[in-house]
Amino acid sequence: MKNTKRSITFKVIIGYLLVAALAAMAVWFIYTQVVKFSSLTQSNTLNNQQLVLVSEIATELYETENTGRRFIQSGDETDLNRYSNQIKSIQNSLDSLKGTYADETMKIELDSISLLLSRKGDNLEEILQLRSQDRNTNYYKEVIQELQKVDESFNEPDYENRFSDLEPHQRRVLIQLLEFSQDEEPAEESSKSTQALVASVKNVLSELEKENQRFREVINKKENELLENDMVLNQQLRKLLSVIEQEERETSLQRVENSQNLLEEVSRIIIIVGVLCILIILFFLFLIVRDVSRSQQYRIKLEEAQVFTESLMKRREQFMATITHDLRSPLNTVMGYTDLIEKSGLNNKQEHYLGYIKKSSEYILHLVNDLLDLSKLEAGKMLIEYLPFNPKNLVEETLTNIIPINDKKNLKVVVDASEEADCKVISDPFRIKQILSNLISNAYKFTESGGITATVALEKEIGDAYTLLIRLKDTGIGISKERQEEIFEEFSQEHGEIEKKYGGTGLGLAITKRITKLLHGSISLKSEPGKGSEFLLKIPVKKVAEDIRPSQEPELPKIELNGRNILIADDEASQLALTKELIRSVGMNCDTAKDGEEAIAKLVSKNYQLVITDIQMPNMDGFQLVKAIRTNPNLSEIPVIAVSGRTNVSDTTYIQAGFTDHMLKPYKPRDFLLKIGEVLKVNLENHPNTHRKPSANDMYSLDEILLFTGDDPKALDTILKALIDSTKINIKEISYAHKQNDSERIAQIAHRMLPMFKQLRADDIVRKLELLEIKKFNLDSKEPLASLLLEIEVLLEALNKEIKA
Ligand code: ADP
Repeated sequence: MKNTKRSITFKVIIGYLLVAALAAMAVWFIYTQVVKFSSLTQSNTLNNQQLVLVSEIATELYETENTGRRFIQSGDETDLNRYSNQIKSIQNSLDSLKGTYADETMKIELDSISLLLSRKGDNLEEILQLRSQDRNTNYYKEVIQELQKVDESFNEPDYENRFSDLEPHQRRVLIQLLEFSQDEEPAEESSKSTQALVASVKNVLSELEKENQRFREVINKKENELLENDMVLNQQLRKLLSVIEQEERETSLQRVENSQNLLEEVSRIIIIVGVLCILIILFFLFLIVRDVSRSQQYRIKLEEAQVFTESLMKRREQFMATITHDLRSPLNTVMGYTDLIEKSGLNNKQEHYLGYIKKSSEYILHLVNDLLDLSKLEAGKMLIEYLPFNPKNLVEETLTNIIPINDKKNLKVVVDASEEADCKVISDPFRIKQILSNLISNAYKFTESGGITATVALEKEIGDAYTLLIRLKDTGIGISKERQEEIFEEFSQEHGEIEKKYGGTGLGLAITKRITKLLHGSISLKSEPGKGSEFLLKIPVKKVAEDIRPSQEPELPKIELNGRNILIADDEASQLALTKELIRSVGMNCDTAKDGEEAIAKLVSKNYQLVITDIQMPNMDGFQLVKAIRTNPNLSEIPVIAVSGRTNVSDTTYIQAGFTDHMLKPYKPRDFLLKIGEVLKVNLENHPNTHRKPSANDMYSLDEILLFTGDDPKALDTILKALIDSTKINIKEISYAHKQNDSERIAQIAHRMLPMFKQLRADDIVRKLELLEIKKFNLDSKEPLASLLLEIEVLLEALNKEIKA
């Protein structure tokens, strides 16, 4: 069971560990996949960044193109500045883009774009310079035009339109100069030289014009170059853009594929892990369910075993109850009758035999009591009651009870009690008495000469807590060292021979030790073989304040007993008859009831002074009877004594149930009468148990029957009538069986007849009946049996006369 539990725990732990390991692996795997996935996303943003940069560059390029064109048309320097700023910004963007590529070819490509850009800038600068030169050539043109005014071959002067491009002050100076030249008519010669000059200037100017033309062509060419350069640049950029876009598309596709693969792998792994987890869980679940069902089976078996054990315990208790009741009750009868027989005047032989019967029945009673005590102690059912008592008195009382008054051994019995021990303490006096009884009877049993000394002392502990010390010393046979521990075990007797001689059950000290423990005390032993033994008993007690009232019991008054009615309830006829005869023997009236119901019926119809009831009875038991009595206002005051063979009922249970007192079966007739006297407050101690002196003859004796009937002639008549009637039937049956040759039947009838004839002390007939019983009687011829039957008939005739007498 324990192993299964442990294996279940082990399996659960292993299962959890496996699942945890699997989960950890899955988490690790998924984490790596997530990391991969996030790097894919990162590369995606990088590509996006590149795309943004490229498109920015493209836009800026278009802008530069526009700015360039505007500048070419206007020649405005602010456009040039803007242009160069834009170029710079593109360069920066290109640098950033370059930074995002690890690829060398891409870097080279970007470098080439950057080169083209700077070249574009250079081109524009060149155009700017050429432009400024071109502006200078315009002045020459103006000069030619002015010269034409001098020469007729030049066009009509139109100053305002011609010089519209000039600054106002330049225009004014030129106009004044030209007007002056027209007003003042030059001389002939000077006119000639002027013409020559004009002609040469014209030449020079036409040269200049040609030069200018060429220059213009160069500019145009440069501009074309610039435009071409722009185109190339744009183409390259577009190419780059498409390359990047292409790349992006491919990587994007790749990325989608990768993420797809990644996701598929992750989901595959998750499925595998899930399936594995489920399989592991199922596997361990199977193992655990199997273990649990196994442990369930063990539990069921265990429960069955427990039920079986409990039933065994119950049976044991029942067995004990059987001993208590079924063994103690007949034993009670045996002891009671033995006691009565003892008083009936016996010859020596009979007294001797009776002595054996008494000893044996006392031994059985002792053994039964010991066994019961032991079983009660083992079952923890031995009840401890705490009552006040005087330790000195208790020891003295126990000693007097146990050591016979006419002690043949003549032992010296001493009680040495300290002054403190003569006080009231609280513990269980009955149990202490039980312990002491055992120790004292052992001491007496095993001491042939010398004496027994009991020392009683009280040792103070704390407050009112004391230790009662009782030392019991004898000068007996002693106990060997090796056996000193063993004697406290069950069925331990030191030497077989002595035990045979002294008797004993071997249970006394075992019970003593257990009761001592129950009282929280201890018992120790000092002994030397041949010298004697000393038992020391230590019991914790509580001291109580001394009762100031005189403790002496008042002398019981002697009261006339005749006319007192006592009712006995018992389902056992023999017990009932015995108790009835005992009560009648002291002169009281006695009625009987076979159960509680009958008792109640009798109680309401007649006035009774005492009820004596058995506990176990059919219909209404003793407890129910006492309850019915106590609850009936007319009966509630009647004292009720319980008699029972049950030892497992405590004193308090009886008192709580409403009983006035109780007696344990088997009891001695004397004790029983004393108990009745105690309850009725009359002294029966020395009551003359008067009997009618029987008329003796050699055929029979009525002594024994009279013992039961006392001096009640009616009772004797009833018994004799019953005896005569039944014997007549028995005689007829014997004759019939003899005719049938049924010796078995004859033996049975003889067996049935024997007790009564034995009580009549019809010894001759008894002897013959005994032979019939053991089939040793001569039945071959008719005569012997016929003479026996005749003899019986004569006896019956005589008895019949007794009735009439
Ligand atoms: P029993 O009922 O046989 O006396 P006990 O348990 O009382 O059983 O005693 C066990 C054995 O211890 C006895 O049989 C005897 O051998 C020994 N024993 C007990 N008390 C004494 C004693 N006072 N002197 C010598 N032997 C003793």
